[in-house]
Amino acid sequence: MEKYFADPLRYDGGMKYERCGHSGVMLPKVSLGFWHNFGGVDSYERAREITRYAFDHGVVHFDLANNYGPPYGSAEETMGRLMDDDFRPYRDELFIATKAGYDMWPGPYGNWGSRKYLMASLDQSLKRMHLDYVDLFYSHRYDPETPLEETLQALVDTVRSGKALYVGISRWPLEATKIAERYLREHDVPLLIYQGKLNMLDREPLDEGILDFCADKGIGFISFSPLAQGLLTDRYLNGIPDDSRMKKGKFLKESMLTEDLLTRLRSYNEEAQAKGETLAEMALRWILAQRGVTSVLVGASSTAQLQNNLKCVND
Ligand code: NDP
Repeated sequence: MEKYFADPLRYDGGMKYERCGHSGVMLPKVSLGFWHNFGGVDSYERAREITRYAFDHGVVHFDLANNYGPPYGSAEETMGRLMDDDFRPYRDELFIATKAGYDMWPGPYGNWGSRKYLMASLDQSLKRMHLDYVDLFYSHRYDPETPLEETLQALVDTVRSGKALYVGISRWPLEATKIAERYLREHDVPLLIYQGKLNMLDREPLDEGILDFCADKGIGFISFSPLAQGLLTDRYLNGIPDDSRMKKGKFLKESMLTEDLLTRLRSYNEEAQAKGETLAEMALRWILAQRGVTSVLVGASSTAQLQNNLKCVND
């Protein structure tokens, strides 16, 4: 691929930025996730094309985790390669997140929420991504066994050590989130953001009160799997395409695509068409309209998908 020069008009193309809670950070309304399509098994050239397109259109927030791939770690290695090949000159324009909390390496120290795991994992992530620091480090999930204070103090210390600028939590239940908010505030490292699954098919953070809590406390909220892994697009309306996530079968099972769900998706699709939008666009707009939502964290297996998803920020 030819040498990359970012589009000089990248901030003039319509991307909108939203303040992340009561913080100094603005995030693009659409952010890009590296869970799928950026691993060692995927085409580097395609990942590179998608990432360039994203940045050229003002998508400055990339979301990773230690175990994204496959294999584990390889999405971060892709990020490292992208830094070397294309993005080093733009490091200060990027907001890069990673996480630890799920299984990463064997033995008792490569999973959950201990200080031992979080600290070692962040060091590994920085090496793989060829970065000195991440902008945001998350506890990827709530650990019912480890004292919350241990996990939270580890997050505080990642900031104190300069390895992370901000901290977040993902998939924590409401009561634990309240403890996290208070602990982190009292230790002068306020909780920047909560990452949870919110989309038209899965409204748990809304029903559980997480969104309201975040809005009331000045914590940002970013929605992962905003398209329900592709269900809330036209991808499955007429069968299961060979190159789709569902065909791969690991995270999105064919058994999920029931007649009831298809009927619901088709009716959403008609609603979107009546408005002159795609289903994906409508689904993303729905999330962005909820109180307290800062950004939607989309995945994309092609530049065309990302291009379509970016339309949701248009008026
Ligand atoms: P989405 O719900 O956006 O699903 C993305 C998939 O939907 C794509 O890979 C593609 O599937 C399909 N798709 C996307 N756009 C279109 C379109 N316009 N038209 C048709 N199909 C489309 O998000 P993900 O599930 O990928 O999650 C996004 C990010 O959220 C992750 O990368 C990760 O960063 C984060 N995440 C965090 C979690 C956590 O625990 N905190 C858990 C899960 C995700 P196909 O491959 O079939 O083309």
